[in-house]
Amino acid sequence: MPIFQKRAAIAIIATVVAAACGTLAGYVLGRALVLRHEENKLDQYAIRIRREAETSAAESRALLATLNAPPYPNCSDAEIAWMRKLIFQSEYLKDGGHMRDGRIDCSATLGRPGEPGPQYKPAFSRQDGTRVYLNLPPLRMGDHTVVSVQLGDSFMVYSPYNLKDLGSAFMHFTVSEVDISSGQTGRLVGEPTGAQAWILTHEGWAREGDTIYATRCSTRYTSCMTAFISIPDALRVDRGEFRAYIGLSGVCGALFGFACSLLYRRSQSMEQQLRRAIRQDRLRVVYQPIVELASGRVVGAEALVRWIDDDNFEVTPDVFVRIAEERGFVGAITELMVGHVLRECQDLLRSRPEFRVNLNIAAADLGDPQFLSMMERAIAQAEVEAPRLGIEITESYTVRLQAAKDAILHLREMGHSVYIDDFGTGYSSLAYLHDLAVDGIKIDRAFTLAIGTEAVTVSIIPQILAMAAALKLQVTVEGIETEQQADYFAACELPLLAQGWYFGRPLPVAEFQLLLRVEDERAAKANAG
Ligand code: C2E
Ligand code: MG
Ligand code: MG
Repeated sequence: MPIFQKRAAIAIIATVVAAACGTLAGYVLGRALVLRHEENKLDQYAIRIRREAETSAAESRALLATLNAPPYPNCSDAEIAWMRKLIFQSEYLKDGGHMRDGRIDCSATLGRPGEPGPQYKPAFSRQDGTRVYLNLPPLRMGDHTVVSVQLGDSFMVYSPYNLKDLGSAFMHFTVSEVDISSGQTGRLVGEPTGAQAWILTHEGWAREGDTIYATRCSTRYTSCMTAFISIPDALRVDRGEFRAYIGLSGVCGALFGFACSLLYRRSQSMEQQLRRAIRQDRLRVVYQPIVELASGRVVGAEALVRWIDDDNFEVTPDVFVRIAEERGFVGAITELMVGHVLRECQDLLRSRPEFRVNLNIAAADLGDPQFLSMMERAIAQAEVEAPRLGIEITESYTVRLQAAKDAILHLREMGHSVYIDDFGTGYSSLAYLHDLAVDGIKIDRAFTLAIGTEAVTVSIIPQILAMAAALKLQVTVEGIETEQQADYFAACELPLLAQGWYFGRPLPVAEFQLLLRVEDERAAKANAG
């Protein structure tokens, strides 16, 4: 398969797989969120039902108290007329009257039945002495559950429409009551549920089968209100929200997958391009001057690698050196750099006995047994003395490995000066410097950048310098861009080296040599004058 087709296929597959995963995640997450939302709504619903039920119960208690102390003889015409007036004024009640031993004597709507009626048994007895009857036959109303409550020899009947206003298309409710004489739980009003008794008599949420329940119990009565909804209905109610979660997650997943495939493609192709560039020896070296801060004289250079990719973009070493490190071929860059520097700077190093070029090496080099022998071979071949090549190592590398510490010792034994690069950024424990046998440190650009600001990093600089002086370490300051920064460090007592755009940008070897010649001429003129 041609490479571009393969890449397109990878991108499509990654996008589709990530979209599918995103959709699935959206489904799971959306379902959970929607059901949680419905649980809250159910709870609000149960609270509303409790409020309504408690209000009507309070009103019925008041009416029962009134019926138990009537202004007329029980079941007299005058009392029945009086009871009718009371009932018509009430929002919650449908009937009221007197009953004894479960038999109705009279009521506002039935009047006075001629002969004694049948005896009814209460469904629930309550702590306060009231008894609850369900669906007393003479007071039945179609399919509705009719609740009657008796206290003393009076009773009243709730209107079955009381809680009807609270009806909802998908949410249902049931009101459960505990009979104090038997301890049994039964349904007072509302719709039947298949839920276990504990769900209906304990406050909180529950899920059983494909139904969600929210129960709230009355603090005044032995009743609990349970609102419930089936999960498919809950998802239907919040259909828009649910679909939005699924859709959004699917789109995010697709974007994520597409972005990953692009990044993968880029890193893959970058790695291949970089490997090719190394094989074809297309990396270049630039040299940035290192100056003696007091005199401004160039005393050395740092060799920095440069790479222009196949699309003609200059990729920064921070990016491609990391790729080479991650893919395990950074040693090839180091070897290439050593070769280039020794070739390009041979004459320079021979003609200037004090001049030194620093090389950056990677963590993997320090742990690589080939590295030291490669260095020895290359230096011997180029007939350059080892002290003319300095080695820069990032602080964090050295902390991690004992092998790194051994390699540093070896490099120093060979005659190289070893510097801790970007000092202060990583494991910047000053005390740790005792442990490492190095020649110097390069203070990271972040400290230089902070000069002239209030940043705490500035206050650390004197401590770093004092510690370096105590340990007799040579200090190079990185990233000097302004005169103010240069002046700050020039005022320090310690003889410092410095590097930064203020003194010179990294240059190809020919331009760097030109810079040195111009400087020599200037120095010669100054001496002659
Ligand atoms: P480093 O070793 O700390 O190198 C100094 C970096 O700071 C260089 O970036 C240099 O161009 C930049 N620089 C110098 N003066 C200034 C200044 O005044 N202002 C600012 N803003 N920047 C300044 P570069 O060349 O992009 O290199 C970045 C890093 O990549 C280096 O940091 C080093 O860690 C790594 N690197 C560069 N060349 C090599 C190499 O050949 N091998 C390895 N292993 N790493 C390398
Ligand atoms: Mg460096
Ligand atoms: Mg540095």
